[in-house]
Amino acid sequence: MASVDLHFHSRTSDGALTPTEVIARAAERGATLLALTDHDSTDGLAEAAAAATERGAAFLNGVEVSVTWGKHTVHIVGLGVDPAHPALAAGLKSIRDGRVERARQMGEALAQAGIPGVFDGAMALCDNPDMISRTHFARHLVACGAVKDVRTVFRKYLTPGKPGYVAHQWAELADAVGWITASGGMAVIAHPGRYDMGRTLIERLILDFKAAGGQGIEIASGSHSLDDMHKFALHADRHQLYASAGSDFHAPGEGGRDVGFTEELPPICQPIWRELDARIIRAAAPAQQA
Ligand code: AMP
Ligand code: MN
Ligand code: MN
Ligand code: MN
Repeated sequence: MASVDLHFHSRTSDGALTPTEVIARAAERGATLLALTDHDSTDGLAEAAAAATERGAAFLNGVEVSVTWGKHTVHIVGLGVDPAHPALAAGLKSIRDGRVERARQMGEALAQAGIPGVFDGAMALCDNPDMISRTHFARHLVACGAVKDVRTVFRKYLTPGKPGYVAHQWAELADAVGWITASGGMAVIAHPGRYDMGRTLIERLILDFKAAGGQGIEIASGSHSLDDMHKFALHADRHQLYASAGSDFHAPGEGGRDVGFTEELPPICQPIWRELDARIIRAAAPAQQA
C-alpha cells in the first residue's frame, strides 16, 4: 500500500471530520503525502495544510469539481490548485450557488414520497449551507431511523429515477479543467470506475478532458475494484494521462476506504504527484543553530 492519498473530504463539504481531524487521522495512519479535495470548495485547505505540516506530512491544495458532461455527472479533481486564483474561486462559487435550491426541491420531492422534514434535517448536519449535498440528506435519513444505512438511502431515494433525485446542471467540463489549470493545478478525472459509461463513452470523456487541458486520471481509488484499477491504468497509458491515487474517504464507518492509504499504482503508471513537486507544501526546515 502507498502512503499517498490525494482525494478525501472534510466537513467543509460532505465529510464528517474537520480538516484538522481528517489530516490527523491520515497522518496517524502513516500517510506522507495528502491532498484535501472537498466538493466545489477550497475553504478547508488552509487549516488542512497547517495540520499536515505540523504532523510532518506533505500537502497539496486540492478540490473536487462537480461537472455535467452530456447527461452524466462527472467529478474532476484539481491538485496543486491556488485557492486564491480569481477564476477558480468564482467558478467554484457559481457551482455552490445552485445547491440550496436543489436541496429544497429534493426536500419537496421526498415529502411527496411520504418523508417530510428532510431538508431541515439535512441542513442541520451541514456546516456550510451552500455545500448542502445528497450525503447530508442520506445521513439525516439514517439518523432519524427512516433508512438503515447511507448506501441504501442512495439506492432507494437519491439516484436517478428515485423519488428524491433532482437533476442538476453543474459546471461545464472545459470550464472546470480551465479553472484548475489557470490556478496552476493539474486536473484529474475522479473515480472513472463509478460512471455508468461503457468503453466508447469513457474514451470520449478522456478525449474531451484532454482537449480542455486535463492531464490526470484516478487509478487507485476507494471507489475502484482491482479490475477497475488495471483497466484504467491501460486507458491512462494509451492516452498518456498521469495516474492519481485517493481514498475518497468521507466519514469513519460510512463504508469505502479509510483515509491515508491507497493501492500501489501498477508499474506502467506515471504518478501525477511527481509532476507537482513545486506545488507541494512542506514543513519549513528547522532554523540552523548559530
Ligand atoms: P452531490 O454533490 O450533492 O450530488 O452529492 C454527491 C456525493 O454523494 C458524492 O460525493 C458521494 O459522497 C455521495 N454519493 C453518491 N453516490 C453515493 C452512493 N451510491 N453511496 C454513498 N454515497 C454516495
Ligand atoms: Mn462526497
Ligand atoms: Mn466524487
Ligand atoms: Mn470525493
